[in-house]
Amino acid sequence: MNQTWENEALCAQTDPESHYPEPGGSSRDAKRTCLACPVRPECLEYAVTTEQYWGVWGGVSQHELRRLIRAQRAKAAA
Ligand code: SF4
Repeated sequence: MNQTWENEALCAQTDPESHYPEPGGSSRDAKRTCLACPVRPECLEYAVTTEQYWGVWGGVSQHELRRLIRAQRAKAAA
């Protein structure tokens, strides 16, 4: 990644590891960081458009992100 918004990523200044929980682990702390992040919309858009399947991005869990990616694919195919 080399996006301009990354320079303002709050997770890079706090605890990046919390954004990649072990399977079954909690994403609560990462989501809390995202809620205060100034580039949350840009981050989420990037994660969906580049199909990031691992980690918490833009305030959504891996599970939620996969659902958004599937929806984006369905929309593109329609
Ligand atoms: S929205 Fe969350 S994952 Fe994205 S840059 Fe901000 S803190 Fe990091």
